[in-house]
Formats: sequence, C-alpha cells, structure tokens
Amino acid sequence: MKKDLWIDGEFKNASSYMELKNPYNLELLAHIGSASQEDVLSAVNAAYQAKAKMAEMPAYERAEILEKVAHLLKTEREECAELIAVEAAKPLKAARAEVDRTIMTYTFAAHEARRIHGETVPMDGAPGGQGRLAFTIREPLGVIAAITPFNFPMNLVAHKVGPAIAAGNSVVLKPASQTPLSAYKIAEYFHSAGLPAGALNVITGSGNKIGDVLMKDNRIKMITFTGSPEVGSYIREHSGLKRVTLELGSNSALIVDDGVVLDSVIPRIVNGAFAYQGQVCISIQRIYVHENIFEGFVEKFVSETKNLKVGNPLEEDTDISAMISRGDVQRTKEWVGEALNNGAQLRVGGRAEDGIFQPTVLMNVPSSEKVSCEEVFAPVVSINRFTEMDEAINLVNDSKYGLQAGIFTNDIHKALKAAKKLEVGGVMINEIPTFRVDQMPYGGVKMSGMGREGIKYAVEEMTELKLISFKTE
Ligand code: NAP
Repeated sequence: MKKDLWIDGEFKNASSYMELKNPYNLELLAHIGSASQEDVLSAVNAAYQAKAKMAEMPAYERAEILEKVAHLLKTEREECAELIAVEAAKPLKAARAEVDRTIMTYTFAAHEARRIHGETVPMDGAPGGQGRLAFTIREPLGVIAAITPFNFPMNLVAHKVGPAIAAGNSVVLKPASQTPLSAYKIAEYFHSAGLPAGALNVITGSGNKIGDVLMKDNRIKMITFTGSPEVGSYIREHSGLKRVTLELGSNSALIVDDGVVLDSVIPRIVNGAFAYQGQVCISIQRIYVHENIFEGFVEKFVSETKNLKVGNPLEEDTDISAMISRGDVQRTKEWVGEALNNGAQLRVGGRAEDGIFQPTVLMNVPSSEKVSCEEVFAPVVSINRFTEMDEAINLVNDSKYGLQAGIFTNDIHKALKAAKKLEVGGVMINEIPTFRVDQMPYGGVKMSGMGREGIKYAVEEMTELKLISFKTE
C-alpha cells in the first residue's frame, strides 16, 4: 500500500516514501509519503486559503461535520481499532477503547462548537468607563499546526483537530512517523463529512524537517504539540511569537495509604502501570506504599502482573505487546540493568524478547535512577515504601515532571492535603493518575508542559479573545 500526502482535499504524490513496519512482527505495512519542504509549504498554503471559509462557517455546520466524523468512526470502529493495533502494536482491547474515546472527543468538539461565546464586561467599574456597553467574542486564530505522538494516534489527533475545527480554524497535521495510517483515515472521514478542501491537511515525514518549516512560517498562528519534552522545548524555543501549547511527558506517581483495601485497587493499578506497554504519558511509573501494607501490596501486585497475557496485538486476550521500537526495548533494558546494579530489587519481568519487554516490577529503587526520575515510557514500575504522608507527597514532588498524580486513602484530611500540595496538573483522589476522560482539563506543570487540552480548554487556546466596546452616551 502507498499513502500519499493529504493536501487541499486530495491525496498528492510525495517526492519520496518511507517504509512503515508493524512494530510487533516488523512486517511491511505501507510506503508513506515523506513531505519535502515544498510539500509542507503547499499544505500551509492550502490551510491559509481555507481559513476565511472556516472562519465564516456557522457553528452549527462545524458541529455537524464533527458529528459526522464521530458517526463514521462508530460505523468503522473495528477497522480503526485494527489500524491502531498494527501500526502502534496496541493490543486490540486498548485500541478499541481508544477508538471509543476518539468518538467521545469529536462528540465533545461538536458540542463545544455550538457554545463558543464571550461575556459582557462591566466597563463602568472604573472611573471614565461609564456610558459603554462592552462584550467579548472569540475568533479563530487562523492556521494551526498540530504535531502528534505515536501512543494515542487517533485520540490525540482528535484532541487537536477536534477543537481547532470546532473553533473555525484550519489545520496542518503532522502525525508521528510510526502512526500515520490512522491520521490519514481521519482526513478521509473529514472529507466525507463535508469539511472544505484545505481545512485539514495531513503531511508525514521526518519530524524535525517538517517541524522547522512549520515553525518558520508566519502564516501559522499556533503550534499545538504533544510528545517528548526534548522536542517540546525545541519547538517552544524556535516558534517566535506563535502561540504554543505543549503536552509533554511525565513519570507519574501514585500514593497508597495504610488502610486501603488492596484487592479492590490492585487490578486497576496494574492496568495503570502496564496498559499499552507503559507507553502512556500518565502511566504509573512510581508507586509509594505505606510501610504497614508494603509487603502485602508488592506480593499481590506481582501476582496480578503475572496474569497479564503477552503477545500479538491482534489477539483478543493480549494485554501487553511490542514496544514501539527495538531501540526503546534496548534503552529500557539498560535503564533496568543500571537500577539493579545500584540496589533496586527485581520482583518480576526484566527480560526482553524481540520487540517485547516483559512487564517489570522493581522494589526499593533509588530516586536518582533513570527508571524513577526520567520518563521510562515502558512496562516498568517502581514500588517504594513511605512512613508519613508528608514524606510521600515530597517523594511524588521530587520530579522534574508534573502531569497527574493519584492517591488512594481513606483519610479525607490526607486526601485534601495531597490535593493541595501535589505539584501536578491533576490530582486523582482514590483513583490512579492514569485516569482521563476527554472533556476534563488536562495538561502539566514543570517539564510536563504548558496549556490545557480537554475540548473546552483547547478551544480557549485556539481562539483569540476580542473586546468590542460601544460608546452609548
Ligand atoms: P516525540 O518523539 O517527541 O514525537 C512527537 C511528534 O513530534 C512526532 O510527530 C515527531 O515526528 C515530531 N517531531 C520530532 N522531532 C521534531 C522536531 N524537531 N520538530 C517538530 N516535530 C518533531 O514523541 P513520541 O515518542 O512520539 O511520543 C512519546 C512522548 O509523548 C512521551 O514523552 C509522552 O509522555 C508524550 N505524550 C504526552 C502526552 C500528554 O498529553 N501530555 C500524551 C501522549 C504522549 P516523527 O515521528 O517523524 O519523529
């Protein structure tokens, strides 16, 4: 199969193509167009030409297009899940869950399209302001560049394209090189749903080559990026006065307090640590367990981990499959090896075979180890003990990241203290940090990023607030 670039409402030949392989069995899936500088510029040009049409389109029409996309996803749910499973090695169960969330994301975008509004401003609150009627409106920014990662190839595209279209912008989308097929699928859905040509363009190819062209182009008003902190920082430094939102990585932590009934929470925590091979920005990477329940927790956690079925992403009962690349398997092996050399204890896993890294549980991991202080983005979790809640909160905060954190406790005072003190974008009480529904505000502090997604919040980032003041006297 050959996949061309999607520019100005049609597939266009690229000057070169790259091989796309299934990360699980390395089978060739497709030849994917690799955009040249001219291709990127023609995508930006198409988006620029379409921006007036998008800005003039009434809200109900934008909403109807988004609703149609959600409907097409529902109709072709299984096909979309299989696409994600083969290009990302995401187990089918998780891939179906991602398609269901993508449907919700576009549905929320359709709702938001209909309720974008401003507010009246009481100008007479200041001396000299009287005799005026003033209000704000929200206007689309124009052309938005969206750059997305491999790990939720459909839903993270939806978190950018959904609010951008809801707000009346046009988009140039650059999906991750490993997961282009689901992005091209979405472009086809928008086309069938009646989105004007040029309002959504999809270009694939090397991230840094395409990124540099997008960052330099003044017709682009905003770059919305989800991916690694390294690339996010680079984009921020090179985007001049463009608006930039960054949804970056983390080493998310969970606190489990004394008195928590372990049997009711362990399966959920295991899922939060290992779902999609730990390649989720809010995967549980560090668990701090009260010393009174530590041994029991580890024992039950390890036994539940051993029940995970490892294998082909296309098999119905697979829980864990291949990591996104062989290089990431090697990196994980090295980081786990270093932790073991420096005093951590291995309770299960630690082995790699082909593209798969076995789900791995480490205990008593020094906080300076990469598996603890860097984003491991692999099926590896560290479990350490604490005595006092203040100590646990400090351990969670001892991180350069701050996306979400979780705490299981029966003590309302400790829960509220944690909510106040944890330095993250979202605190999940009696829930894992991996919890997300798609309309909630979502984003990080510290090196986890800036700006918020969750459709309503993304729409705010993707619109310009304009003040209109009438002098009435
Ligand atoms: P990545 O390597 O940073 O790539 C993300 C995107 O950026 C890809 O499309 C990539 O293209 C592109 N890119 C690479 N270099 C670029 C450059 N110099 N300029 C512009 N774009 C460039 O991240 P990933 O490995 O795909 O995804 C994993 C990371 O995403 C993790 O850190 C994870 O925590 C983070 N993430 C965060 C969230 C969140 O909401 N906070 C959600 C999901 C994932 P190529 O593929 O062509 O290199």
